[in-house]
Amino acid sequence: MWTFVYTLIVGILLVLLGLGAFAVRGRSAAYAQGYGPGGGHFAACYGAVISRYETAEYVCAVCGERTVHRGEAATTVSTVLPACLRLAESMPRLRIHIDASQFCAHCRPGVDDPKLVAEITFAEGARPLRAVGVREEDLRRVQEVLAANEAASADSLRPQITAALNVDSPSREELAARLAELAKDDTPVELRPGAMCYSPAGPGASAEYICPKCGERTVYDGMRAWQVSWNLVGARRMVDTVQGIRVELLENEFCRKCQPEVTQPRLGLAIHLRDEDMPRIVWDVSPDDIDLLAEFMAGERKHSDTQDFESPLRDHISRLAEILGIDASRTGPGPGG
Ligand SMILES: [Zn+2]
Ligand SMILES: [Zn+2]
Repeated sequence: MWTFVYTLIVGILLVLLGLGAFAVRGRSAAYAQGYGPGGGHFAACYGAVISRYETAEYVCAVCGERTVHRGEAATTVSTVLPACLRLAESMPRLRIHIDASQFCAHCRPGVDDPKLVAEITFAEGARPLRAVGVREEDLRRVQEVLAANEAASADSLRPQITAALNVDSPSREELAARLAELAKDDTPVELRPGAMCYSPAGPGASAEYICPKCGERTVYDGMRAWQVSWNLVGARRMVDTVQGIRVELLENEFCRKCQPEVTQPRLGLAIHLRDEDMPRIVWDVSPDDIDLLAEFMAGERKHSDTQDFESPLRDHISRLAEILGIDASRTGPGPGG
């Protein structure tokens, strides 16, 4: 009898202990989920625990409007923005402007997923470097580049700074949204009057293609010579100016050793998008196509073509949609518009 009661009591105690342990475990799991690396992204890095339900108010530096944000946007407003402003100020050698206008519901209505933009201006006339979705760590890497090259001019450090900013490629949805935004933006674009029109230098009789991979020289003449000496050279130069999206020029078909079976070599562009394992590949791209992409990614509103003629970027939406593989009918005024 006593043995039975004893066993019963020990049994109940063990069950209670087990439940207790389970409860503790359950709670720590919930904590981790709420504030750990999966939930509140910045909790660990910035020391401030901001739950996804907390809000932060953004007071617009331009119009004074107050916009309340939640979740990740609230974290950006309350911790990332001030940190980025401090970092930008700590680098007087660079002209860095931290643009938070996407967080103002008055200046930029209808932006669902606002991002901080760092804009670095280099030599006059050159396209400024824009890092959309900039974070503290990106600017810290820029700081390191400056510290490691104290004697160098800021302009000469542009390639290193571009790399340090490590601008991520956008996703297909983000590109579609940007394209739609461009389509419905009907504010007038100021174009440079009296653009100079000139023709590119005539093609030489023949042109030599030197393969950057294997070093083989392939000689072309006629139209192909023009393609090598004008298109390919221009495309290489343009690819270096594309920012905010990872692109690669595919010129392999021009090498007779690498691609002996190709009779009609084409110039291609591989576009790597976030969340997509395979790049989008567009064949028969021109330097002008790549320039369009560069302007679009830089947030410009006009296109200046290879002959220096300017037009609103909005007029090139259908080509941009084609290059990016985005259904143009989803972007508003549509093809040709
Ligand atoms: Zn505003
Ligand atoms: Zn080759």
